Amino acid sequence: MVIGIDMGGTSTKYGLVRDDGSVVARGSIPTGGTLDEYVDLLCRSVSGLVLSNGLKQTDAVGMGCPNGNYHTGCIEHAVNLPWKGVVPIARMVSERIGAPCAITNDANAAALGEMRYGAARGISDFIMVTLGTGVGGGIVTGGRLLYGHDGFAGELGHVIVERNGRLCGCGRRGCLEAYCSATGVSRSARERTGREMTSKQVFQAAVNGEKWAQEIFSQTGALLGRTLADFVAVTSPEAIVIAGGLSRAGELLLQPVRKAMDESLLPMWKGKIRILSSALPSDDAAVLGAASLALEI
Ligand SMILES: [Zn+2]
Repeated sequence: MVIGIDMGGTSTKYGLVRDDGSVVARGSIPTGGTLDEYVDLLCRSVSGLVLSNGLKQTDAVGMGCPNGNYHTGCIEHAVNLPWKGVVPIARMVSERIGAPCAITNDANAAALGEMRYGAARGISDFIMVTLGTGVGGGIVTGGRLLYGHDGFAGELGHVIVERNGRLCGCGRRGCLEAYCSATGVSRSARERTGREMTSKQVFQAAVNGEKWAQEIFSQTGALLGRTLADFVAVTSPEAIVIAGGLSRAGELLLQPVRKAMDESLLPMWKGKIRILSSALPSDDAAVLGAASLALEI
């Protein structure tokens, strides 16, 4: 059994996971306090979970963290966390728990989870795209996650899709994330209607037959689809797996994605690249992804 930890900006979820993908027990703590306080609480909570399930020790710990660098085991310059600079989180956790610990970012962890337990089982070349508050990416080639020289490969949310477009959280303009995320959709709604609303409300409006909202989903999907066609040209995947809160819009989003991607693909790929929805339960997906990383240690 291993521990999977999903560190988010406000809370951290963790679970004890059997290698068949069943989450035996779970818990969460707030992400906050000083770094030492946080790591102490996390490790005490995790060790408590291990002991209360009749185990002496866990075999390994995997963590999905914002800006988590697999190579160094450090969180590097994460903007949405209280700790600035470079945080050697894997070493701190490993020392306190007494088991090896590996980290990566949440989209990479999601890719590992889909490969082991979800929509990408049996697929050795695929691209993971997570559509949440931001857009995350994970690239798997030949059955291995691509980390790159610095450990940050697959930052697909920050591919520029619109020159001089919307300002992105990264400080540049026109990133995919500024359009095809939950925040991107609510921004589109604000531009269109002048009203503040969540992507969920835009979805509800589209379901209720409001044309402007349906158009936002078809335009968002089309932009994503054209961009996915470019991603395909880089790694020639068998499939693209889509997950995250915005993907719950289902066919309203995925149908225009498929259409635009197919129109934009080079001839040899047309009709061949599958778009798959995550096959993991949304509540446990991030923990399962992190646990998949632990199982690779
Ligand atoms: Zn950006």
